Amino acid sequence: MLSKLRNIGVIAHIDAGKTTITERMLFYSGFTHRVGQVDSGTTNTDFDPEEQERGITIMSACVTFPWKDCQFNLIDTPGHVDFTAEVERSLRVLDGGVVVFSAREGVEAQSETVWRQADTHNVPRIAFVNKMDREGADFYSTVDEISERLGANSLVLTLPIGEGPPHFENGFSGIIDLVTQKKLTFSGKDGNKVEQSEVEEEMREDVEMWRSQMLESLSMYNDAMMELILEEKEVPAKMIHETIRTATLEHGLTPVFCGSALDGIGVQPVLDAVVEYLPSPLDMPPVEGDDPKKEGKKITRKPDPKEPFCGLVFKIQSDKHGDLHYVRVYSGTLKANSRVINLRSEKKENVPQLWKIQCDRREQIQSVEAGDIVGIIGLKHTVTGDTLSDTRAPLTLESITFPETVISMAIEAENTTERKKLATVLEMMGRQDPTFQWKESEETGQTIISGMGELHLEVIKHRLLREHQLDVRVHNPRVSYRETVTTQVEATGECKRTLGGESLFASVTIRVEPKKHDDTPVAVRTAMMGSDTFSEAYHSRLLEALRDRANGSGLFGFQLMDVLITLVNAEVLDNGSSEVALQMAAADALDKALSAGTPGILEPVMSLEVTAPEEYVGEIVGDLQQRRAIITRTHARGNVTVIDAEAPLANLFGYSSAMRSLSQGRATCSMEPLSYGAAPPEVIKGFV
Ligand code: GDP
Ligand code: MG
Repeated sequence: MLSKLRNIGVIAHIDAGKTTITERMLFYSGFTHRVGQVDSGTTNTDFDPEEQERGITIMSACVTFPWKDCQFNLIDTPGHVDFTAEVERSLRVLDGGVVVFSAREGVEAQSETVWRQADTHNVPRIAFVNKMDREGADFYSTVDEISERLGANSLVLTLPIGEGPPHFENGFSGIIDLVTQKKLTFSGKDGNKVEQSEVEEEMREDVEMWRSQMLESLSMYNDAMMELILEEKEVPAKMIHETIRTATLEHGLTPVFCGSALDGIGVQPVLDAVVEYLPSPLDMPPVEGDDPKKEGKKITRKPDPKEPFCGLVFKIQSDKHGDLHYVRVYSGTLKANSRVINLRSEKKENVPQLWKIQCDRREQIQSVEAGDIVGIIGLKHTVTGDTLSDTRAPLTLESITFPETVISMAIEAENTTERKKLATVLEMMGRQDPTFQWKESEETGQTIISGMGELHLEVIKHRLLREHQLDVRVHNPRVSYRETVTTQVEATGECKRTLGGESLFASVTIRVEPKKHDDTPVAVRTAMMGSDTFSEAYHSRLLEALRDRANGSGLFGFQLMDVLITLVNAEVLDNGSSEVALQMAAADALDKALSAGTPGILEPVMSLEVTAPEEYVGEIVGDLQQRRAIITRTHARGNVTVIDAEAPLANLFGYSSAMRSLSQGRATCSMEPLSYGAAPPEVIKGFV
């Protein structure tokens, strides 16, 4: 049974057609009886009103449906960069992916981002080149880009018959399956019926060329096939399928399909390919977790229903019935009404109800086995990223990590009641979406929320105002600055006091200097030699205190970044109060070091990719330069020009609409956080 399960995601750049293809898949599987349309807001997976309005997928919903003799768990992932953490999170629990490209735009910046994410998580994938019916669609150059830009070895498995709108001469009308060498056309209700026929004379040569190229690539993975080819013998279809599967699972080759999800052409072959070439949970290596009993020790669990249970919570959706926790089960069997343990919250949790999720419908089930995905209702102490495991065999799987927030906005509640309501709502939203953060500022009485981008905050704002009807004032978003140091300074902090007759004394000397950017914003290390009066325990608590203080804010109230702190020396009086004294001296030392040095402000820098027809390039580039952008590359792609640039987020507010009006709606753009860079002097002046 496990071999018949496919946990897959459709991943792509926004607007490539993920939702449309998902709708098609659900329809062809017999799951729905009509095809939902993104453009009229009737899709099955985008059931959040906010998403329907925007026509983009924000929340990944897990949809279960049958295809042939397999069961699919399909996770619809969002494509907008503001929501990349959602993609990241889905990738953690997927076994395979269908990556959708638009044949008109080709490989876009964000396709590259998701591709790299999928590489990181070792997700085998197949590619679908969509929108073959659009004017300017170019299958072959998209295939080249998949190889060149993504470094994938593309294995073309279907060829398009024609390109562009169907009513054009030589418009897109069907596909050729290179394995069977048959032409496939799609008719009946919404392309429901797949018809096979002979390939027309004029395409024979192409088909032969691409087919022998396919076999040649595959023969590297199969010696028997290599022999057959050298002997000029027929290669059986079964051998071809098996070899494609091997090469895909080894990340050697990426099968490429083509079609038009909107016109219902070429989708069923992709579903078949998921069954044939993408992994089942059994093909996945055992998961590894930390043993709570022994630090540093790893425990592995096979995807076997007989192993002790463990699973990862990758998503929480809240509604009026309460929180629904989505769990990927990695090992064992989870039964309704059982008890599991969550080591992070150190709580035993009851699992009252298990649900299979089918779009916005749910079916209650009694148990779920390794490899599957299930929704749990009734968990109390569990958040996204937590591991649930058997109480008698507990472990912790690697948690899901989330990127830094780059943008924030202030919210003011009209009165105390509203402020309390706001806090409750934000807390619930924070459980669902760990990429957004919020805190109350005591000085101003404001609540500051931060997120991954303008759109992300916009969506949160609409939820607060519309869905929860809060009476709050929302300020314009601002970028999240970071503070750093630009010079090396040494400073000594002290604590000298008497408290209740006992004297408190500690002195701490540290060195603070800039460091290269990496995943740790502030690194703390020690250069202190051990001494008789200064125990190992004091030493580690002092480092802990420095770390705590460094994770707070700097001189200007922003979080510190790219800072290295070295503990040089420390002294205490050996009595019971020394620990408090050490903490105070550590904080004092850091404050002194920061004020003595030269601070720097860092601002988020985005990378952008703008695609525009030639006649608008001049104006778009001019506008970008005014926004302090650095143009890193411009190149032609078919009849459009692609401009790559890097620019501070602070200058990119409202950029998408500005760019659209400059180009009369004909340019498109994608952006994503790239790094933090030094802010210009006027920004710093604003804070001094
Ligand atoms: P998503 O953002 O990746 O989920 O993309 P959607 O499925 O929402 O599609 C974005 C837009 O492209 C919508 O207007 C769709 O109607 C359109 N679209 C999707 N697939 C095709 C296709 O095969 N051909 C054409 N011409 N348009 C498509
Ligand atoms: Mg969508």
